[in-house]
Amino acid sequence: MKLFLIFALPLLLFTFVYIGLTGVDKKDEQFRRNVAEFLNMYNTTYPKLYAISSEADWKASTDVTDEHTGQQVGANGVLAAFQGSEYVINKCKEFLKQKDKLDAMTRKQLETILRSAALYPGTIPDVVAARVEAESKQGAVLNSFEFHYEKKGEPVKIVTPNQLDDILSSSTDLTERKHAWEVSKQTGAALKPGLLQLQSIRNRVATEMGYNSFFDLQVSGYEMSVPEMMTTMKQFNTELKPLYEQLHCWTKNKLAEKFKQPVPKKIPAHWLGNRWSQAWPGIVEGVDLNAMFKEKKPEWFIQQAEKFYVSLGMKQLPKTFWEKSDLYELPADAKRKKNTHASAWHMDLQKDVRSLMSVKPDYDWFETTHHELGHIYYYIAYSTPEVPITLREGANRGFHEAIGDLIGIAARQPKYLKEIGVMGNDVKIDQTQYLLNEALDNAVVFIPWSAGVMTHWEHDFYEEKLSADKLNERWWKYVGEFQGVEAPEQRGENFCDAATKTHINDDPAQYYDYAMAFIIKYQLHMYIAKNILHEDPHNCNYYGNKKVGDWLMSILKLGATKDWREVIKEKTGEPISSKAMLEYFSPIMDYLKEQNKGKSVSWE
Ligand SMILES: [Zn+2]
Repeated sequence: MKLFLIFALPLLLFTFVYIGLTGVDKKDEQFRRNVAEFLNMYNTTYPKLYAISSEADWKASTDVTDEHTGQQVGANGVLAAFQGSEYVINKCKEFLKQKDKLDAMTRKQLETILRSAALYPGTIPDVVAARVEAESKQGAVLNSFEFHYEKKGEPVKIVTPNQLDDILSSSTDLTERKHAWEVSKQTGAALKPGLLQLQSIRNRVATEMGYNSFFDLQVSGYEMSVPEMMTTMKQFNTELKPLYEQLHCWTKNKLAEKFKQPVPKKIPAHWLGNRWSQAWPGIVEGVDLNAMFKEKKPEWFIQQAEKFYVSLGMKQLPKTFWEKSDLYELPADAKRKKNTHASAWHMDLQKDVRSLMSVKPDYDWFETTHHELGHIYYYIAYSTPEVPITLREGANRGFHEAIGDLIGIAARQPKYLKEIGVMGNDVKIDQTQYLLNEALDNAVVFIPWSAGVMTHWEHDFYEEKLSADKLNERWWKYVGEFQGVEAPEQRGENFCDAATKTHINDDPAQYYDYAMAFIIKYQLHMYIAKNILHEDPHNCNYYGNKKVGDWLMSILKLGATKDWREVIKEKTGEPISSKAMLEYFSPIMDYLKEQNKGKSVSWE
């Protein structure tokens, strides 16, 4: 008996443990089956509703009528009700409690689904209804706002933002500029109460989904924590600061001379050609690129852009693209109205890709057609069985824009323009002025604004629940710190200058997407130029290079299945950083240092 026990005990224990393990295994297996079943249901239902909703959006954008707008609201409502349903939210939350039992791709799908549910969570219908109402009210205030312009001795005029921009881009009269700038800020006060209301509603939606704030919820799309995102944005600013300071010093001296004023420390906001100082256009005299395209037919632009991608080894666009897209300006007597802003559409998350444009024969449209087809080829590349429906997106939110913009850089390379015969072979470009213009009007100057002012202010607004009496003070603190810009006069809390930027109202807490896109595009471009083409990054030719195509395709086909930080590290050998951008603009650094010799570059 004893003997039996001695032998039997380990056996008994072993059996016990073994049965236990199988029990756990079976439970885990059942759990994974449940998750797979749920994802299967979601991935079949979601694209159907998504397709109906995008078809309604398409109709509303290509034939603007009240009826189509009504249908659009209805179709979008059905999609939102499904995405944000209690059932979907509870299932995802339940499954994610055991996320360590799931593979990375499954976990990513559940998190993506939960994040899109956060837009309109059905678990708090009252808050959702309040949000829809508050956002549409805010939109109405913004769209119907009348700017009042007063000139001494003249009756008050109602002006459009375009008219104010015209003054800021061309007037040399500082009094007139100051007034135009101040008028452009009138919307802020009108939008302030609605914005404060949205602050608490949006934060309430986010906490419902388990996030600390609305900012936190939006940042989670990058699989980053808020401190990680803020550190990344600070890093972009710090790395670029030496170059930005030189640009800042050169510009303020140039403008002081133009306006016959003493050189200030910070640049007065009304001296610059953009209402938020986010780009500094018109300071460098540019080359007229439009002349090269005057004689071309609108069809040529899209065909040439397609040729560009085909030359990299990609397939021709599907027939349905040509049949269903809406690409050209409408004739003056057209019976319908369409949205004239260029966009690229992935209608069914499968093969139905379309573009909405109004191509005219100029340089902007040359770059825009290349940019928009970048989105289209990205859609096509990740619409494969390897990429689940919910992960058919860019590697992160900024990536899609980065790819389009990257091809935009490729499209303006003189070598390419010469090869396709639009630029004469003997045309010489002053590279320093060309680069200086790109740095000021677009690239470098945009980073302190996007990664600095916008991101930091929205961070404080949602994360710290910034109070009504601090909004403007905080705004100008960041404008001064990051941009080295100041208001023409002290701005009190009766103004709300942050709210004058559309994104603060209707595209909240994700402006860092643009900073990411800028940094990523230069990082990819520098890699291609140096390591694949072995050419000067300022004059290189992607056209006809299959190696560039293969390399790009290896990024595009991943969609959002992989962590974007790994993608960048793997493909360029470096983590994300503004080093590549700094290197791209390094030829102007010496020029600026020479020009700024003996002047103080700091504004502090
Ligand atoms: Zn785009």
